[in-house]
Amino acid sequence: MDIRTNEPFWLIKNAMPTSYPSLQEDLETEVVVLGGGITGALIAYQLLQENYKVVLLEKRDVFNGSSAASTAMLQYEIDVSLHQLLDQVGVAVAVSSYKECEKAIFNLEKLAKEIKSECDFTRKKSVYFTTKKRDIDFLRKEYATRKEHGFKVTWLEAEQVQALGIEKGRAAILSASGACMDPYKFTQDLLKVCVSKGLTIYDRTKVTSITHDKGTVQLKTENGKKVTATHVVHCTGYESVQTVKEDIVALKSTYAMASEIVPKMPASFKKHIFWDTSNPYLYFRDTPDGRILMGGGDEKFKNAKARNNLLPKKEKTLTKASNDTFGGIPFILDYSWAGTFGETKDGLPYIGKPDATKNEHYVLGFGGNGITFSVMGMQAIGASLEGKPHPFLEYYKFGR
Ligand SMILES: Cc1cc2nc3c(=O)[nH]c(=O)nc-3n(C[C@H](O)[C@H](O)[C@H](O)COP(=O)(O)OP(=O)(O)OC[C@H]3O[C@@H](n4cnc5c(N)ncnc54)[C@H](O)[C@@H]3O)c2cc1C
Repeated sequence: MDIRTNEPFWLIKNAMPTSYPSLQEDLETEVVVLGGGITGALIAYQLLQENYKVVLLEKRDVFNGSSAASTAMLQYEIDVSLHQLLDQVGVAVAVSSYKECEKAIFNLEKLAKEIKSECDFTRKKSVYFTTKKRDIDFLRKEYATRKEHGFKVTWLEAEQVQALGIEKGRAAILSASGACMDPYKFTQDLLKVCVSKGLTIYDRTKVTSITHDKGTVQLKTENGKKVTATHVVHCTGYESVQTVKEDIVALKSTYAMASEIVPKMPASFKKHIFWDTSNPYLYFRDTPDGRILMGGGDEKFKNAKARNNLLPKKEKTLTKASNDTFGGIPFILDYSWAGTFGETKDGLPYIGKPDATKNEHYVLGFGGNGITFSVMGMQAIGASLEGKPHPFLEYYKFGR
């Protein structure tokens, strides 16, 4: 499955990826982490911390799946608003999911510091805004629910939203917790640390079949090599639809763009990340070199060709949307790309085993805050391998 077009900003900004060898011999290990995106790197790091012997297999170069397409806005705010999530999954799961997502942002910051990553991790305040009168009541309800459950939020009236540069802004929720980073640098830095702690990485190594024999997992690669492990952790992102039987995610085509460097980026734009109440929503952040990074325009995913064919049209509509929203910061297009994205029915991730009898685990951080969900996956992966209970293995289980 082709999961993105060729021009994501991070790959251009960071030039050549680090290269690892492909697998050319049979081997044995305790755990195979399948997938070398941001999730695979985080999970490999966690398992090494827990003293597992880990091998990571990646069919492309590392960080060349949908992580490369990510705009890497780090939010505790899930695609499904808290007041709606309460109705869908109950208070305990909904509030815990929002709170744990918030903690995940801080955990990621701590990890980036610990590994001395040059990923420009920067805390930002998050602005959830509307330019539509009809969405004000929805926002007010969400604000009241978040306030009731102890989140640090402030209500912004139209003039305050407009003062942030959103010319037609009518209301917003300002949240204290949010952040941005360069996901490519972070993943590459984390993988380097993992290698120093004993991780072996093989890229350009596609796993084509997985079978089970006497408590072991046997992975076959495209070039006929065999890896025998006690556990495999699938960190295969949206391509997991090819191995998970359950219909867990609705795939979308999504679009993102980076502007040219803005000569005088307003301070208020630099301090915040922004998303709106439209469906599909628009979202905006800055980059350390002073660009607008924005995205939206989601469509139901049909196939990669249809997704990519829409890119020229999306460039026009998203440029217009950016200029309509932040008229004072003209958006001049520099890079654009399309990616595949997924929405679960409750906006929550899938973590754990789809089949209790097999040592195949998944960490699938779907949705607009997939990265924070993957950080949460680090907390539960050890329990999943050991067959121990963990709240996330219950909240985010398959078959829920
Ligand atoms: C345009 C866009 C914007 C986004 N913006 C944000 C955002 O602002 N904030 C946020 O938190 N999230 C965002 N996301 C989501 C986020 O990018 C994803 O949740 C995250 O990157 C998923 O990482 P991953 O490592 O799980 O998947 P991937 O990066 O796709 O990695 C999975 C890897 O598995 C490998 N693989 C698959 N099958 C096999 C196999 N059989 N053998 C070997 N290797 C295999 C693939 O090659 C791939 O590299 C965005 C996504 C898109 C597309």
